[in-house]
Amino acid sequence: MWLALKQELIEKAVALGFNMVGVVPAVPSKRLGAYLRWLEQERHGAMGYLARPDRLARRQDLQVILPGVQSMVCVGLDYYTQKLPEHIAADPSRGRISNYAWGVDYHEVMTPRLEALGAWLTAVVKARHLTTTENPVAHKVYVDTGAILERDHGEEAGFGFVGKNTMLIAPQRGSWFFLGELLTTLPLPPDNVALGASAPSCGSCTRCLTACPTNAFPEPYVLDARRCISYLTIELKGWIPADLRPLMGNWIYGCDVCQAVCPFNRFATPTAEAGFTLSDLERAAPSLLDLLRLDEAGFEAQFAHSPIKRIKRARLVRNACVAAGNWGSPTAVSTLIPLLQDGSPLVRGHAAWALGHIGEREGITAVATALIRETDPQAHAEMAHTRQSFS
Ligand code: SF4
Ligand code: SF4
Repeated sequence: MWLALKQELIEKAVALGFNMVGVVPAVPSKRLGAYLRWLEQERHGAMGYLARPDRLARRQDLQVILPGVQSMVCVGLDYYTQKLPEHIAADPSRGRISNYAWGVDYHEVMTPRLEALGAWLTAVVKARHLTTTENPVAHKVYVDTGAILERDHGEEAGFGFVGKNTMLIAPQRGSWFFLGELLTTLPLPPDNVALGASAPSCGSCTRCLTACPTNAFPEPYVLDARRCISYLTIELKGWIPADLRPLMGNWIYGCDVCQAVCPFNRFATPTAEAGFTLSDLERAAPSLLDLLRLDEAGFEAQFAHSPIKRIKRARLVRNACVAAGNWGSPTAVSTLIPLLQDGSPLVRGHAAWALGHIGEREGITAVATALIRETDPQAHAEMAHTRQSFS
């Protein structure tokens, strides 16, 4: 009975557009211990919410998330789009955006589908009288927003293996896919995924470890988020450490390097998901000067349905300032100077850094002038550092 329902569920999930579906028991991840050690080492940086006691309680016991939960349906959705033409990807006057954010926000795509899957499941079990008052059917869906180690559950569901770059890698399709989960109180039979010694693995490959621009892997399978460009450009709300800025190149939202070099991603095929396809190269690598000129209204209009909207305008312009500094072109100076008066201290300070990195006299003079009026301590320190470097 439950086995047949599970098969129907898988077919329904595929019909909803998911590329991978698997069922695992709703128990904590086997790697929870390693995760707790990672937190102890403070490699999560400023993502303090990851270590919050209520979050940890949920990771340690999924019953806290959904009382009576028995099964977890894991789904994957491909997002690989295409390789950017080299003349675009390597153009330092453009800011690069991680492939996963080229299209519409994946939460907007995946969450309604998972909810539809849950509603379908509820309707079916009620129609077939498969639940009782004592065991009511209930579900909860997650798309990287909950306290679930979804990559590890995806591995248990047979999607692939976790590589040295800490990504979940499907041997036949690579690692460019999103994960989501449907927790349910129903006792769906789990997939029996036995990963033996012959299971695919990284073997002796170390490409991702050596290719990382910021040296964010202290050892294989361990990411120090504090050095990762994805963390620095997306998760970090404050000041980007000055020693890491020159290593970030022109990445302004995320970073794809450790996935792009992975040989398993040779097998990636472009997604069939219309919302993720690239309609315009500007969505993958917009002009830095255009980004620096973004005001709040422009940001809202441009990124309304993109995952980029969550970092808000100031953080995106902060990132663009760092990329402009790394570009190093005098062309950027006249666009950076007005940002020394920006409403956000974060933008003012990073603009000062960029002008210092470019080193044109006009920019340094503007920083010295702005320094006199600057009231924010950190922005002031950034400006003072730039001015002193040229005195
Ligand atoms: Fe390094 Fe980029 Fe991978 Fe982060 S996303 S670990 S910065 S290669
Ligand atoms: Fe593993 Fe090599 Fe891929 Fe890194 S690049 S995840 S070492 S296979």
